[in-house]
Amino acid sequence: MAARDFYQVLGVSDSASQEEIKKAYRRLAKQYHPDANPNNPTAAERFKEISEAHTTLSDADKRKQYDQMRRLGAFDAAARRPGAGAGARGGPAGGFTTENVDFGDLGGLGDIFSSIFGRGRREEAHGETLEALVEVPFRTAMLGGRIPVTLPMNEPCATCHGSGAAPGATLTTCPECNGRGTISFGQGGFAVNRPCPMCRGRGKIPSQPCSTCHGAGEVRTERTIMITVPPATESGSKVRLRGQGQPGRPGAPSGDLVITFQVQADRFFRRDGLDLICEVPVNLAQAVLGTRIRVRTLDGKKVVLRIPAGTQPGRKFRIKGQGLEKGGRKGDQLVEIQVTLPDKLTPDQEALLKQFAESAGLKY
Ligand SMILES: [Zn+2]
Ligand SMILES: [Zn+2]
Repeated sequence: MAARDFYQVLGVSDSASQEEIKKAYRRLAKQYHPDANPNNPTAAERFKEISEAHTTLSDADKRKQYDQMRRLGAFDAAARRPGAGAGARGGPAGGFTTENVDFGDLGGLGDIFSSIFGRGRREEAHGETLEALVEVPFRTAMLGGRIPVTLPMNEPCATCHGSGAAPGATLTTCPECNGRGTISFGQGGFAVNRPCPMCRGRGKIPSQPCSTCHGAGEVRTERTIMITVPPATESGSKVRLRGQGQPGRPGAPSGDLVITFQVQADRFFRRDGLDLICEVPVNLAQAVLGTRIRVRTLDGKKVVLRIPAGTQPGRKFRIKGQGLEKGGRKGDQLVEIQVTLPDKLTPDQEALLKQFAESAGLKY
């Protein structure tokens, strides 16, 4: 059953007065009453909805509780496809997921909310989302490619098939949670559920735990998978790989794997948007008289670059189209010229340089 917003059901705003709610209810109840719509299941369903909405919204306390849950996004969560919203560890922002809401302490409201959220237990079996930080060599991150990534994983124990019980062991109801598998504690007006630590959420305790996994039902292992790194990947960018996270309980889908890329620095290149920047040293004579230098591109080609006479340190030369490619656009390679000066001169060289300085009118 799709969750309907009670205010929507009655066609009133969430700031409606008790009088407005009563009026809307009367009008709709008359319209959809089973007596007025014999053999009409749609109308009957609608009538039930209207009655539920009215029961909650006409009672000040129940309305307050309902508003609180509504603000917390409970109804967005309920509208989600099962499994589609299994977010990263800890659930969606705000920590409010259908799995950890307890309806037991809401009195009459509990039944209504249970019917709205009546699939929480099934989602618990869904495997956990794994997160991994993956270092990528600069060149792979820029050009794109595939790299192996080794991840720690929990896999169902092969000996006990995930039950945590030794072969032939008998199961008794967990005394901690009375077989519910969860224990609840109060928070913000309603209770939040956590898996029971004693029975690990199973609700049953084996007379003897499985010796392979010591009762955990899963074993720690490693898995290596190949990951595609898109071209022009930046540090901090993420990809979500569906179904590559923790395996679920038997019959349930695996969680997702969320990779955050960390791009390693390169000794020669650095990045600026789609452009690649590199620094190339030339000597004093090359800078002053002009020269040709060979510059390496990211894909390993050598490009000859003409350095004109009188090139100043820090001047940048552009090699068209040798940058990064993304979304049909292509960047350039920028070559920044560094000028290295001689740090030691012979007496002859010193005399020549002084002669040059005098001729050029340079003070020293
Ligand atoms: Zn086991
Ligand atoms: Zn328990």
